[in-house]
Amino acid sequence: MTDNGSLSFNSPGVPSADDSPDESCGDLVYGYDEDGRTTYECGAPLHHTPTGYHCNKGHSYTYAAVRHDQGWDYTDDPAEAQLLAQAGVLGVPPGSTSG
Ligand SMILES: [Zn+2]
Repeated sequence: MTDNGSLSFNSPGVPSADDSPDESCGDLVYGYDEDGRTTYECGAPLHHTPTGYHCNKGHSYTYAAVRHDQGWDYTDDPAEAQLLAQAGVLGVPPGSTSG
C-alpha cells in the first residue's frame, strides 16, 4: 500500500504542532459547580499518536483499526464484553487509563 521512503515534511512558516496542539479533549469528566454535580468536556490539549490520541489529563483513545489489529475493543457493558470474549476479543472499558 505505502512504502517507507525517505519522506520529509518541511513546511517553512508552519509552527510545530507538538508545542501548540489545536485540538482539545472532548471526553466528559465529572465535576461540581454551584448547582452540584455536573459534567463538562475535559478540554486538555490532545496529542496524536500513530495509533490514536491522548490528552494531557490521561484520557486516551485508540483507533478502531488498531484495536482490531490488537484483538481488543472498547465496551463498558459486561454482556457485550462476554460476546466479545467469545469472539476472541478483549473488552476494555472506555477511559480505563492508569492514574
Ligand atoms: Zn482529556
